[in-house]
Amino acid sequence: MSLPSSVCLFGAPHRYYQGPGAFDLLGQVAAPFGPNPLIVADAFVLQMLGDRLAAVCAASGLTPILRPFEGEITYPAIEALIASLSGVVPGIAVGIGGGKSLDAAKAVALKLRLPVVTVPTIASNDSPTSAAIAMYDEHHTMIAVDRLHRSPEAVLVDTALIAKAPLRFLLAGIGDAISKKFEADGCRDGTGVTPFGTRPTLTAIAIADACYATLRRHGSAGVVAAARGEVTPDLEAVIEATLLMSGLGFENGGLSLAHSLTRGLVKVRGTRDAIHGDQIAWALLVQLAAEGRADVFIRELVQFYREIGLPTCLAQLGLHDATPAEVEEIARWTMTAPHLANLAVPIDAALIVAAIRRAEELSEHTDV
Ligand SMILES: [Zn+2]
Repeated sequence: MSLPSSVCLFGAPHRYYQGPGAFDLLGQVAAPFGPNPLIVADAFVLQMLGDRLAAVCAASGLTPILRPFEGEITYPAIEALIASLSGVVPGIAVGIGGGKSLDAAKAVALKLRLPVVTVPTIASNDSPTSAAIAMYDEHHTMIAVDRLHRSPEAVLVDTALIAKAPLRFLLAGIGDAISKKFEADGCRDGTGVTPFGTRPTLTAIAIADACYATLRRHGSAGVVAAARGEVTPDLEAVIEATLLMSGLGFENGGLSLAHSLTRGLVKVRGTRDAIHGDQIAWALLVQLAAEGRADVFIRELVQFYREIGLPTCLAQLGLHDATPAEVEEIARWTMTAPHLANLAVPIDAALIVAAIRRAEELSEHTDV
């Protein structure tokens, strides 16, 4: 739907559930959409949760169509998944697991015009709450970001499961979330639009602010709890910021230079293999440098990253001894991103190169 420029839009999942045991609500949440939900899940998640899933479905009278999902989200893979249904159209698609299974469920939902439920078992980025679907080709290159017609019907976040997942996923989720305040501010202060195609709402700016404040307040203690596999109020706060606030913040507030930099990072040695949220954590430092923020402001954030374990320089993202040509390549690809109007300052490749150098320098010369 295209909207007139005078109209703003705020979109969100219909329901968001969070807490230990939220997984067990799946039957009740899916039941109103018919007896045969399509459930797409990571194979190892099915191993871990298969019995529990069967019990939850049986308790609500559901006979799910189960499809394990491995590999990349490509158009042929989604077509094959739909073909495996042999013409049966489920009433709802449910994705359980990491980003791939959730995106696979979303992609099927988009194609078959179904509502979708996401059940993330890690919190490595905010896609569970968003309408976005990252599509790839067979060479693992992202080729499109498709969008659901409707935001997810429900998001079930079982924090007991997320607390047990490897810590590096939660750290990446914090990296993906911590930039959202600055990206939404960039969108508001620039001339850009949100992924919904409208100017950001005040509500989105407030949520993005709350996302940042929550991560700064609860981040360290939340990470300590996650490292122990314990659900605590600090970890609950961090997960809510990482999944809900971050998702609402970017869809309704807009993305900016930090997310644009991933266009370059996925092209370059080392950084191309870094997890998205780690890329964004570093890219935020570059955005802040490009915006001309004071050294002391950027150094303080670098210290926070060090404290919790987020990367602060290209070497920690996997690009050791970056050459000038590699830095220029990052900048060149960044300039192809659609979010570059979402910044108060006009941007070009030379400014991005200078900002990367400044961020690297500040990282190198900041003590813990
Ligand atoms: Zn992101």
